[in-house]
Amino acid sequence: MKDAINILGVRIDRLTLDQAEQKIWDFLNHDKLHMVFTPNSEMIMAAREDEELKWVLNEGDMNTADGIGVVYASRILGKPLRERVAGFDLAKRLLEQLPQKGYSLYLLGGAPGVAETAKQKLENQYPGIKIVGTQHGYFKKDEEEQVIRQINEVAPDILFVCLGMSKQEKWIYNNRDKLRAKVCMGIGGSLDVFAGKAKRAPGIYQKLGLEWFYRLIKEPKRYKRMLALPKFAWTVIVEGRNYTWDK
Ligand code: UDP
Repeated sequence: MKDAINILGVRIDRLTLDQAEQKIWDFLNHDKLHMVFTPNSEMIMAAREDEELKWVLNEGDMNTADGIGVVYASRILGKPLRERVAGFDLAKRLLEQLPQKGYSLYLLGGAPGVAETAKQKLENQYPGIKIVGTQHGYFKKDEEEQVIRQINEVAPDILFVCLGMSKQEKWIYNNRDKLRAKVCMGIGGSLDVFAGKAKRAPGIYQKLGLEWFYRLIKEPKRYKRMLALPKFAWTVIVEGRNYTWDK
């Protein structure tokens, strides 16, 4: 059995940031596509009502705990995760090493222009990085084949997929047999941050596990989404132990 924890039906792997990073370098040694998902409490709550999303997440080759809520849930369940492994932090770890390791990267997602800006900024920040393509995330269904063809022409080692929660995980899963990439990671709004269009909370908020609070102050309209947090905690307390460990 994998060293994993089952949170309301979703498998979360018990890995530190260092271990998660290492796992990705290992994935890159194999000629097979690997799906990396980074569920947070919102995604886990969404998966309770969306069987397809739940299925897709559990098919992930690696699922890390993106939010502090997931870490708390693991404590409630008596199988504490050592730390939060946010998709953004994992992506940054990779970016730091990519120039030296030489693996190529493709950026998919965000509003038109965002991936392109992110590419420029990342190239400045990580000289020598090989970003072999970009594509915005608002293509239509009938443009999908073309998007996949463009990605496959350059066959990136790593594909960052930033189409928003649930959409990006399903997109990766549904296209896993078509895509020529070794690691596909769903990392939500990260491209907006790399492009300088959105900011992460200052380190102190992250350390205290209050990033959600910072985002709430910055974007009050997110409050409805945030109500999912206490609901998540309550659901884990009430139902969390009904789920078996071995998935
Ligand atoms: N996004 C996209 N295509 C879509 C929907 C969203 O590329 O059809 C992008 C959006 O521009 C943003 C990112 O996905 O850069 C994350 O969006 P959001 O914050 O809504 O997602 P979540 O926080 O739920 O992951």
